[in-house]
Amino acid sequence: MAVTTAPTTQEKPVATPHFNAFEMAQRQFDHVADQLNLDQPTRDLLRWPLREFHFAIPVRMDDGSVKVFRGFRVQHNDARGPAKGGIRFHPLETVDTVRALATWMTWKCAVVDIPLGGGKGGVICDPHNLSMREQEAICRGWIRQMAKHVGPLEDVPAPDVMTTPQHMLWMLDEYEVIKGGKYPGFITGKPVGMGGSLGRTEATGYGVVYTIREALKDMGLPVAQTTAAVQGFGNVAQYAIRLYQQLGGKVVCASSWDQADQTSYTFRKLSGISADELLSISDKFGGIDKAKAKGLGYEVLPGDKWIEQEVDILIPAALENQVTGENVNRIHAKVKLVAEGANGPTTPEADKVLAARNIFVIPDFLANAGGVTCSYFEQVQSNMNYYWEMEEVLGKLDVKMTSAFLAVSELARRKSLYMRDAAYVIAIDRVAQACRDRGWV
Ligand code: NAD
Repeated sequence: MAVTTAPTTQEKPVATPHFNAFEMAQRQFDHVADQLNLDQPTRDLLRWPLREFHFAIPVRMDDGSVKVFRGFRVQHNDARGPAKGGIRFHPLETVDTVRALATWMTWKCAVVDIPLGGGKGGVICDPHNLSMREQEAICRGWIRQMAKHVGPLEDVPAPDVMTTPQHMLWMLDEYEVIKGGKYPGFITGKPVGMGGSLGRTEATGYGVVYTIREALKDMGLPVAQTTAAVQGFGNVAQYAIRLYQQLGGKVVCASSWDQADQTSYTFRKLSGISADELLSISDKFGGIDKAKAKGLGYEVLPGDKWIEQEVDILIPAALENQVTGENVNRIHAKVKLVAEGANGPTTPEADKVLAARNIFVIPDFLANAGGVTCSYFEQVQSNMNYYWEMEEVLGKLDVKMTSAFLAVSELARRKSLYMRDAAYVIAIDRVAQACRDRGWV
């Protein structure tokens, strides 16, 4: 049932009418490949994934019927180490989104200099409408299809949008049944106590804030004198809000998806929102209850209002394709910094405007690399079967994120590059070098 395809450079990505994340990832790559004067074989290798798997996952549903879900795994590049990347559950998942995310994982692991490649997986499904038993069956079905092609030394999955530590544990269990042994280093994002690492839940959001802290230092702005607007209220957004506020910053709004209304809303409190308060009225997917929010004194505004706020910092931490050519000009003149918690939130058209307006951008694959860095720590701990204390994990995370940020910002200053380009130059150069060193190109 599993189909393995090695895509060719002739194959064109299937574009949705509005946005194709993989085309965007390729455009970003081409732009930097030109700057680096990359030779043609290296371009052909890095513009496309090394390997792709497209497969069916038949599931016996609770009502007795059988439903067939579509699953993917894309291994973009593994020259620097085993592929690494999350598995998302999303009703609108496409292979091009997965390809883009796998590509960005390659650059992300390279920019923070951890010995891993890039991969990503997904299943077209909506967990909102699935029982836990049905979700377990999807997880186990995904592993049955992929067990031959993933593993601690080949490709290490993790959670992503709408997947959780529980999903990872079901996947690990299925993998260990098939392989007949214990392989805690096969998958990351496991529950703490079952091979998970302390700090993983906080890692991506905290990592975003470590880079914001360093950027503000460069700008000579004390964190306590700054304000921020956040898009999203899931794992990344919640922990970014918490640490930024611990450092003294004020967050005026967060936005979230409303499943019942099939639209998003922005929840604003100009005196400062509270992550704990909003969490107490959120569902497990990060959707905030409108009526309860109003009761707690929040203004409930249209979903896109987060981008117009009069703040110093914007933190898109929901989905890709959110800061676009259409809305970028609605960003307030006060905004000095965009820290991309989400993957691919800014389109190339919007990038041009941000660069022209001199807004400092901490690009996604640098800003949100805390997650994969901590996943790497989890893998190391699982392979050793020895687990570190929280302080040790967060201390090591801060060192990695800060040094990656400083390397990128130093190159950007020295060569007058846009931050995204500087991060790409470092990452692509490291991956291209690994491919050359291995004699692939
Ligand atoms: P999540 O599922 O926990 O949360 C997503 C949040 O975004 C929810 O609050 C949801 O309501 C909100 N949302 C969805 N659509 C929206 C819309 N149109 N407008 C406003 N809000 C909307 O996901 P997450 O783990 O926080 O991931 C968020 C982003 O960060 C994704 O792009 C993901 O790929 C990226 N990322 C996550 C991690 C991680 O460790 N979790 C690591 C790196 C990158």
